[in-house]
Amino acid sequence: TKPVYAFEEADSKKRMLLGGKGAGLSEMTRLKLPVPPGFTITTEVCNKYYDNNRKLPKDVMPAVMKNIAKMEKKTGKKWNSTKNPLLVSVRSGAAISMPGMMDTILNLGLNEKTVEGFAEQTKNPRFSWDSYRRFIQLFGKVVFGVNDEKFDHVLNSAKTKQGVTDDSKLNVESLKNIVSEYKKICEAHTKRKFPDTPNEQLVLSIEAVFKSWMGERAIVYREKNNITKDIANGTAVNVVAMVFGNMGDDSATGVVFTRNGNNGKKELEGEYLINAQGEDVVAGVRTGKNIEFLKKDMPKSHKELSNACAKLEKHFREPQDIEFTIEQGKFYLLQTRTAKMSASALVKTSVDMVKERLIDKNNALARIPAQQLEALLHRTIDESKIKNHKQLAKGIAASPGAASGIVVFDVKKAIELGDAGNKVILVRKETKPEDVPAFFSSEGILTSLGGKSSHAAIVSRGMGKPCIVGCSELKISYENNTCTANGITIKEKDTITIDGSAGTVFIGEVPTVEPQMTKDFEQILDWAQKTKTLGIRANADTPEGAKLARKFGGQGIGLCRTERMFNGSDRINLFVEMIMAENIEERSKILTKLGQLQKSDFIEILQAMEGYEVTIRLLDPPLHEFLPNPEELVERIQKLKASGDTDGVNKTEIILKRARELAEVNPMMGHRGVRVGITYPEIYEMQIRAVFDALVELTKKKVKAHPQIMIPQISSIAELNHIKKIYDSIKKEMEAKHKMKLKINFGTMIEVVRAALTANELANTAEFFSFGTNDLTQGTFSFSREDVEGKFLPEYMEKELLERNPFQSIDVNGVGSLIKIGISGGRGVRPNMEIGICGEHGGDPSSIKFCHGAGLSYVSASPHRIPIAIVAAAQAVI
Ligand code: ADP
Ligand code: MG
Ligand code: MG
Repeated sequence: TKPVYAFEEADSKKRMLLGGKGAGLSEMTRLKLPVPPGFTITTEVCNKYYDNNRKLPKDVMPAVMKNIAKMEKKTGKKWNSTKNPLLVSVRSGAAISMPGMMDTILNLGLNEKTVEGFAEQTKNPRFSWDSYRRFIQLFGKVVFGVNDEKFDHVLNSAKTKQGVTDDSKLNVESLKNIVSEYKKICEAHTKRKFPDTPNEQLVLSIEAVFKSWMGERAIVYREKNNITKDIANGTAVNVVAMVFGNMGDDSATGVVFTRNGNNGKKELEGEYLINAQGEDVVAGVRTGKNIEFLKKDMPKSHKELSNACAKLEKHFREPQDIEFTIEQGKFYLLQTRTAKMSASALVKTSVDMVKERLIDKNNALARIPAQQLEALLHRTIDESKIKNHKQLAKGIAASPGAASGIVVFDVKKAIELGDAGNKVILVRKETKPEDVPAFFSSEGILTSLGGKSSHAAIVSRGMGKPCIVGCSELKISYENNTCTANGITIKEKDTITIDGSAGTVFIGEVPTVEPQMTKDFEQILDWAQKTKTLGIRANADTPEGAKLARKFGGQGIGLCRTERMFNGSDRINLFVEMIMAENIEERSKILTKLGQLQKSDFIEILQAMEGYEVTIRLLDPPLHEFLPNPEELVERIQKLKASGDTDGVNKTEIILKRARELAEVNPMMGHRGVRVGITYPEIYEMQIRAVFDALVELTKKKVKAHPQIMIPQISSIAELNHIKKIYDSIKKEMEAKHKMKLKINFGTMIEVVRAALTANELANTAEFFSFGTNDLTQGTFSFSREDVEGKFLPEYMEKELLERNPFQSIDVNGVGSLIKIGISGGRGVRPNMEIGICGEHGGDPSSIKFCHGAGLSYVSASPHRIPIAIVAAAQAVI
């Protein structure tokens, strides 16, 4: 491959090589759409640049200059000319779009001499000097790393001095002053003269764009969005002849989505600014005019825009996000890419495009990132409760969903507070791309400036975070850490609620409700249900969870954790008493009471899942987890002593003694699961009996219940057989007593490495398997799942020792191999054995893909992830 391709010669299918922006520009050129001439320096060059100690390979600049010469021909302008200078933009663009995360420089080619030529050529000195000052600002920021605020400061004082509020009203004299001030800022920063030749400027800009690939915000963005090297490796650089939206009132610039990115409606959605440059719209500093007004302002351009949108959508079969610029009435396209949309917009456009016959059902399913659907299952504002809350302000709805949290104005603080577990609403005048890391730590984002097409809005949409922009009623003071609207002042850490679907901001925490499924979402799920072959069950421990799972399309419960039931406020004390019991008689008495409670829980859950399997796992955690920890007890005793409550002291001391007896150094590998069942058989007996009791009662009521009993932490067939004997005797007893056949499958978790390796033995007794991938991952890596995330894992990822968190996405090579061994062991003995997985991985799309391929019967995920799992399972088939 060559280092540089002109738009007309590049093969636009090669996105990895050209980046998304480059590929889009060459494709549009090929479609004969009006794109300014230009060329792409490939991502390969970017990688060579890094391999080469951050130096451009020798062949790059000669190739660049050849292509600049081609541009001169096409535009009739001349590089570095004092009469008719060619100006270019230098733009980043990786294979996966990372809006605003990397750098771009505009108006390159201007210096003290060419700016005069430019003024002559355009007959517009004001405009020329404005372009020049914009260039220095961007160049200074991107190439030299000058703090933007320094430039803003100069700009603002110039405006004050001249007595204007609008950038576009600055006169030539002011602009010349600004230029000289800007240069001084750069020169003070770099301690060298501002580079004046276009050649020098171009090399530095190309290098700066390559550097921005390894800039902090780009790295964070890739990490958080799982953009790995196999899908985007380095950025390309696009050099594009400048066109000017700031050449007067017949010029404009804007961004449109071919369909509404917030709700998916088939309408152009976007904004434009008259007499402005693209950066003004996308940087989120100014709020543009709604695109519908363009029809009146510039009817001819509006028509061209609509036609281009239709053509591009039809060509790419995806809604597009388009940047355009109108230079003195002439319409240009500067970018097109697949529009990033909210989850609800993705769903609606999928259904609509199938109706329009633009795509088929498989395409419709495949184009939805399953992960993103989670946002649709987020709770929404309870409309009936709004009246109890004061509305603070209203802005532009930029990303749907509701979020409550404490107001934080400072980006760093938002990260700190958010990561410490607080729910934060980030409130800013505007958000710059460098603020994006704080989005991840916030529940929602609220800005007083900016429009829907700002990078901030688009990024938050992709993350599924509620976002309101352009909330101009809100006056923010960073100095006082307050914001004010409609006479009400909100301080830092006050609680507010934002409704990103309506654009409204409320004071306090507005209650939320479970989301409604839209018709379109139901349609997508219906297609997915019909396409997938993998079963989807729920991890649910309560009747509510079971009902929700069913509503979302779950077919059965893959994991009902019985210990969760003991944590209920009406029974935790009983359970503690059971642990404290001094002898077996006393313990049995308490267990009988607990058995009654479990039975009624099981009845409700089985009823909610009528017709489907419900896998009930017997007690798993170590007993001491139910007792307060010793330090806490010691404190309690001290307090009781101080208050003179000797009775209380004695009682608590007994608990403390027991807690110390039960404490373990390594509880995750300790006295838990079946090991508790073996040493305290009465506990498992009670639980097994409660399942049988529930089945008896439901059978009598003609409810079709299908409970299954599952034993945790099994490592050997001997353990399993030991419990099976207890099960058998209870079964026999119950069947005799109630004179009915009672079918309850008996199976085991496979979550201990040894269990996976000896699955062929376990299958002689176990009627089904369920992989507990959390513990299995822990055992396979010897990573404590409770500790890794806070300790070394982030560094492992940073140093690329691990590509993904193995607790989130199944480690295919290691844990995956154990799963395959387990499956073949099990099915070798029982060919149709039901084998599933429960554990966090059950709701993770890439793990689901693996599970489908491995031939599992089902995955089990938490109720809110079931729709994701259904769609991901369908995608695994497509
Ligand atoms: P980003 O990836 O941050 O959107 P872009 O490379 O798309 O960066 O450029 C930023 C802004 O500058 C966009 O609004 C774009 O339309 C505008 N722009 C880029 N190149 C040109 C050009 N040659 N002429 C006019 N405007 C341009
Ligand atoms: Mg862009
Ligand atoms: Mg486990």
